[in-house]
Amino acid sequence: MRSSDVVVIGGGVIGCSVAYHLAKKGFTVAIVEREDIASGTSGACDKAVLLQSKNPGLHLKLALESIKLFPDLQKEFDINIQYKNNGGMIVVQTPQQWEVMREFVLRQKNTGLEVELLDREKALERQPAFSKDIAGSTCCPMDGEVNPIYLTLAFKRAAEKHGARIFLHTEVKGIKVENGEVHSVITSEGEIKTQFVVNACGVYAPHIGRMVGVDIPIIPRKGQIIVTEPVPPLIHGDVNCARYITAKFRPDLLGNSEDARLGVGLSLGQTENGNLLIGGTREFAGYDRRTTHRALRAILKHAASLVPALKDISIIRSFAGLRPYTPDGLPILGEVEGVKGFVIAAGHEGDGIALSPITGKIISEIIAGNLPSVDIDISKLSLERFKGLDTNGFRQIHNCYGFAV
Ligand SMILES: Cc1cc2nc3c(=O)[nH]c(=O)nc-3n(C[C@H](O)[C@H](O)[C@H](O)COP(=O)(O)OP(=O)(O)OC[C@H]3O[C@@H](n4cnc5c(N)ncnc54)[C@H](O)[C@@H]3O)c2cc1C
Repeated sequence: MRSSDVVVIGGGVIGCSVAYHLAKKGFTVAIVEREDIASGTSGACDKAVLLQSKNPGLHLKLALESIKLFPDLQKEFDINIQYKNNGGMIVVQTPQQWEVMREFVLRQKNTGLEVELLDREKALERQPAFSKDIAGSTCCPMDGEVNPIYLTLAFKRAAEKHGARIFLHTEVKGIKVENGEVHSVITSEGEIKTQFVVNACGVYAPHIGRMVGVDIPIIPRKGQIIVTEPVPPLIHGDVNCARYITAKFRPDLLGNSEDARLGVGLSLGQTENGNLLIGGTREFAGYDRRTTHRALRAILKHAASLVPALKDISIIRSFAGLRPYTPDGLPILGEVEGVKGFVIAAGHEGDGIALSPITGKIISEIIAGNLPSVDIDISKLSLERFKGLDTNGFRQIHNCYGFAV
């Protein structure tokens, strides 16, 4: 039987970051991935490393710690992850949104974020392609972007350099627990004896949880994205709209229109090749990863009302990904009570790319038994915070039955 100090299940950005941080500390690590690296949500998402889209408090603190790690990772990796610290904006369309964003920005500043409100003229100076009808925007110079697939591959390659072994097209079928402790992982290619299992399976984390009798409240929240032909520079940094923030944190405030039901809010960025990535939606549609004509039309209508030039740019493709959504929008990190050695690193919703460096670091410190190197109360991210939650009710509200794989 093979053996490894740690088996990381899932070769997405979170699993690969965890594996890299652990291998660097000297642990023997195996990543077990049933498809390929970045074949899940980490290969079907945007590229924003946004601080502004995080809730002031613990969420934002995690992101602030994470963003500090990107420049050194960029230097250390063999792969160019295209990390750029080029600032981000949240466009405001109405006076009501302006009031909401003013309060949001104030709370973010109190958590240590450098962010300001720009009036219409200043916002348009930075983003001339935007409609003259906008009310203004926020601007945060600390926001950045990264290529999510290159980032995942770079973590994986760096983990391998530190000795990690990668098992692709290998599915985890079960986990053996003896006397309340993890003993081994059963895969489609054989058994691996181990002391620690890290469940980094994103939206599939609940399936792995069930293998050890643990109920993990994560459900898929679909996002659809449109990709255009390459065009000369049109958008500077990543741009969201105030409705995007509302769709993320308070969808109940959006009303009952079709756009509201689909959770339509602008996310817009331009890749190094010039393609525009136009998003997006926030939908509870089970594990269905198909795009829909209805949602793509709604995304385009909203985006073109904010950036009229989009009407003359051709679309080349679209895709959808599944955000791993938890009841409080925060990831679940840490060892689970009652199953020694079973660690969860999942549930990052729309923030997993940005939060991947700090997640890997935190999980490696937990497994190594080190004191946390960041001033964040990790216990607030444990699975135990959901004790007493009606998880069936949570899934039913979001209509998540009938699709599970
Ligand atoms: C439309 C959209 C836009 C987004 N934009 C951004 C953004 O701009 N910035 C940002 O920070 N985040 C963004 N996100 C969120 C981010 O993409 C996710 O939080 C992140 O990718 C989750 O990574 P993960 O490693 O947890 O999951 P995944 O990437 O899904 O990896 C989990 C892996 O587990 C594997 N797996 C599952 N079951 C098994 C099994 N039994 N055995 C072996 N392997 C298994 C799967 O095959 C998969 O590869 C976006 C998400 C979406 C959908």
